[in-house]
Amino acid sequence: MIVPYADLKAQYAGLREEILAALDRVGSKAAFILGEEVQEFEREFAAFCGVKHCVAVNSGTSALHLALLGVGVRAGDEVITTPNTFIATAEAISYTGARPVFVDIDPRTANIEVKQIAAAVTPRTRAILPVHLYGLAAEMDPIMEIAAEHKLAVIEDACQAHGARYHGKRVGGIGNAGAFSFYPAKNLGAYGEGGALTTNDDALAAEARILRSHGESRRYYHDAVGYNYRMDGFQGAVLRVKLPRLEQWNARRKSLAEIYRRTLEGARVELQQGGASCERVDHLFVVYVDRRDTVRASLEERGVQTGVHYPLPIHQQKPFRALGYQPGDFPHVERACERVMSMPLYPEMSDEQAHYAAQTLREIVGEK
Ligand SMILES: *Cc1c(COP(=O)(O)O)cnc(C)c1O
Repeated sequence: MIVPYADLKAQYAGLREEILAALDRVGSKAAFILGEEVQEFEREFAAFCGVKHCVAVNSGTSALHLALLGVGVRAGDEVITTPNTFIATAEAISYTGARPVFVDIDPRTANIEVKQIAAAVTPRTRAILPVHLYGLAAEMDPIMEIAAEHKLAVIEDACQAHGARYHGKRVGGIGNAGAFSFYPAKNLGAYGEGGALTTNDDALAAEARILRSHGESRRYYHDAVGYNYRMDGFQGAVLRVKLPRLEQWNARRKSLAEIYRRTLEGARVELQQGGASCERVDHLFVVYVDRRDTVRASLEERGVQTGVHYPLPIHQQKPFRALGYQPGDFPHVERACERVMSMPLYPEMSDEQAHYAAQTLREIVGEK
């Protein structure tokens, strides 16, 4: 059996007629930049997340950047985050001129170790940027408490967690602002680049709207040096077709993840553990194994493709080495990066494929 790591073509095949009609609506109106479809999507996605505002942009990275600017992060400030994430989390901090300050992860959840945040706060700290990694919400209550105590803003990197909940509340509306990515492989993916900032803060939303379009408040009148971060009309139209299916796709991911968990019980692997209050949306199904690269090669030989998210922690990536962190500074992250491996997981996968992938992994790693 072949289990590809991902299969975006299968999803397109099922949506083709609706997508083509949606693209045609945009083309007929020549509403190529922002426009009605994007505006409608903003309303629908805000409602989905349970927030007042959604500002559609051209990537998750742009959403993070605007969110950080929106809470007042500026050059010389510090923003606390995790080095166990996609590079964009730290890049967005650097775009503002602020410095990413890393803390280790809780090895069970792979998310930021809340107990280490307070010790990383300095007079320059402006914000905390937790990541809901692999679709699992970070422990937001204690993070919000630390933020309140030190008067810090909280930006949620929800780029992998569309629809995830913490204590029943959707991510993206818990901190001051949330950032989502609609990169095609995310739980909600566009057919190109896309992203969104979510917030309940009217002023922050208004500023983000201005900054995403060259700081323009009125046609050709500019209030600030802004950016070209606008979402294009085709992406808005595609996302509107896909959003009503997101819950169903997330539910499908969940039942496939259950097959993985059941089949891997007792096998020599560790899994990402979620707290009772953190409802995940199974963006990735990661396992931690010894001799990861050998295990991956054996899986590949037997038709199971895998990924690695991520092989090198951010504090060891070239552009961030100048921050001065040393190997060994974040032992849990470093160990995770050596052992982590992502199994195939997407809604169009069959139960049989999930079972085969899990069973094959089990045979390769053996029993505990
Ligand atoms: C995908 C992703 C981003 C960036 O999103 P883009 O749309 O690719 O810019 C940021 N953070 C995390 C955790 C991501 O997974």
